[in-house]
Amino acid sequence: MNLNRVLYFGDFVASPLAILGLALVVLAQRDLSAFGLWLLAFAVGCGAWTLVEYIVHRWVYHNVRFFDEMHDAHHQDPLSMIGAPSFVSIAMIFLVFYAPLFFIDRTVAGGFTGGILLGYLAYTLVHHASHHWKLKPGGLLYRARLRHMAHHFHGVEGNYGVTTAFWDHVFATYIEPRRRRAS
Ligand SMILES: [Zn+2]
Ligand SMILES: [Zn+2]
Repeated sequence: MNLNRVLYFGDFVASPLAILGLALVVLAQRDLSAFGLWLLAFAVGCGAWTLVEYIVHRWVYHNVRFFDEMHDAHHQDPLSMIGAPSFVSIAMIFLVFYAPLFFIDRTVAGGFTGGILLGYLAYTLVHHASHHWKLKPGGLLYRARLRHMAHHFHGVEGNYGVTTAFWDHVFATYIEPRRRRAS
């Protein structure tokens, strides 16, 4: 879906606000052990995001016809502002993670969802930077860019992870980026 600037960059504002809101909910309890549990769930959520990112990109965006067609538009035209509108992604995250966990433990639900949201924010940022920023060689962002360019342009299926190559190594879909680009 082609997005306007508000919907495209909305993630960079809406995600931190949602994380802040979730943190304020637990802080308002003034309960140190609850906040400790929240932080633990937050860290687990950050880690879990990397697997969510891999699964969604590999098995939803590249396999489920409806999403595949939309994602293909990004592959055809990587510099256009194509994606899901911010509010849809964030609503989906709350629906899939927060809602079920809420009935088990509200604090865990808040922390875990906060971690997922931070991971999602990192993903949107790294993905945007990979396509739009001029990055100097060296550094994590530059390496992430090389990996993602291999996903787009090497003609081999792989490198589904954007923020990390970890799951590509686990599932044997890692493509070694070419250091020297033709252009
Ligand atoms: Zn893709
Ligand atoms: Zn891309």
